[in-house]
Amino acid sequence: MYFYESHLGGIYTSNIKYSYDDLYCDECGDSDWYIGEYDSWEDYIKDIDAENFIFSLDYLAEESGLSVKRILELNPRLGEDFNE
Ligand SMILES: [Zn+2]
Repeated sequence: MYFYESHLGGIYTSNIKYSYDDLYCDECGDSDWYIGEYDSWEDYIKDIDAENFIFSLDYLAEESGLSVKRILELNPRLGEDFNE
């Protein structure tokens, strides 16, 4: 599955690999970003660069269907606060 970040906020997945033109938004001129291809949410979560990740653990749990505990097992750095 392919993971994307929406220019409106949020992460979504698709089994289609969109082109840049598909990801471009005619209405506001911004575009979505292709994150990468992963077999599952678990694979994606393991690969997240926690330091540059802007979404909350709760959001990630909601989207992935995984518990926050499981997410932190997969990628413990997501539990750290990098803003301090
Ligand atoms: Zn837009």
